[in-house]
Amino acid sequence: MAMQEKIKKVLARIDRDELIGLAADLVRINSVWDPEEGSNEQQAAEYVAGWAQKRGFAYQLEEVAPGRPNVIITWRGGPGEKTLMYEGHTDVVTPGDPSAWTTDPFGAEIRDGRMYGRGSCDTKGNLAAMLIAMAALKKAGVPLQGSIIGGVLCDEEDRMLGVRHFIEQGHADRVSGAVICEPQDGLICTCQKGAVRAEFFVSGRMSHGAMPLSGLNTAPAVAEIIRGLHRLEQQAAATCGRDVHLGWPSFTPTVVQAPASGPSQLNVMPGQARIKVDVRTIPGQDHQQVIADLRGLARRTEQACLEHYQQYDAFLDLERRRELKIQTTILTDRPCTQTPEDHPLVQAADRASRQVTGKEPQHAGVPGATNGTFLWALKDVPIVTLGAGDRFVPHQVDEWVDLDSLFQTAEIYALIGLYFLAAD
Ligand SMILES: [Zn+2]
Repeated sequence: MAMQEKIKKVLARIDRDELIGLAADLVRINSVWDPEEGSNEQQAAEYVAGWAQKRGFAYQLEEVAPGRPNVIITWRGGPGEKTLMYEGHTDVVTPGDPSAWTTDPFGAEIRDGRMYGRGSCDTKGNLAAMLIAMAALKKAGVPLQGSIIGGVLCDEEDRMLGVRHFIEQGHADRVSGAVICEPQDGLICTCQKGAVRAEFFVSGRMSHGAMPLSGLNTAPAVAEIIRGLHRLEQQAAATCGRDVHLGWPSFTPTVVQAPASGPSQLNVMPGQARIKVDVRTIPGQDHQQVIADLRGLARRTEQACLEHYQQYDAFLDLERRRELKIQTTILTDRPCTQTPEDHPLVQAADRASRQVTGKEPQHAGVPGATNGTFLWALKDVPIVTLGAGDRFVPHQVDEWVDLDSLFQTAEIYALIGLYFLAAD
């Protein structure tokens, strides 16, 4: 069968109304994980499982945590070892104050060619598009080589338990490439920033604000760490430069807390302080070096502050206990991901996007982490991230997705499968 004919057959199986209906049904299910309110991913997962069953897919519901299942949908398209994964998540973030919305956050209202609602953009619209694409590949009856697997996963927005479980169960072992279905405005994202997140915990000694010399203030160390982080950022920018897709590396102090816990008081000099830093890396930065630099900064700051106190106390002719400790804890170490631009998966995505939109595909990078990060980091799975929806709309009020782009996305997802698993 000629490729043009296969393309026609697959695209003919994508029904716009069915896609919109499925996206709307998913948006109408509140799948915010909120143990106090009792909402979770259960109902959305069961809905997807029911959908898969009706379309003759093999599927499994796997409980990751109570009320939080993954749905694994599989279909063998033909002989061959290749497996293409489509990944989408069922959880959404909270709508916040519903009165700040101009629509019902779980209403899936359609206005001027857009669907509104929490998750419409991130990523239930794209989840619907990937399911419709999988069904189109299955129904079209075109020969394929290999299998497709749909990972409809829980808990992407928080701790990424769903994808970890998916990997632990061995599902990723046979995946040769994954399409991460997230809102990227039609851009084909081949790379993602990495992250190192750390906490500096500074211990001094608490005292009365009027008698600071009877304690040991942590504030100079806090200031020094913040200055030091900025120096590290400048060094990284000078050494690595600006990545064409990901921009600059950054070392951002995001939490600065003194006292480290409990209420602050103007006349109390706190004994402990906490600084958290969110480091975002680009290809070329070595994470072991970044971690060593953070630990080195803590050590040097500790030393410099102690020397300073020693000299100052000598000047004041003061004897006091000068213990100052800075503990560094690494909270996250997540590498950058980078799928080569000439990888068959990226080429399939380029070709699919060109075929559907008639435009030259544009490559970009994902600023944050997705479930794809873990597939790439833990299982070496090549990934591309693409989908409908403005990249800045997720997590905002009045979240929306453009329905024309959603339809195109379903077509692109389906053609990626066709090209990636092409049989001659
Ligand atoms: Zn998402």
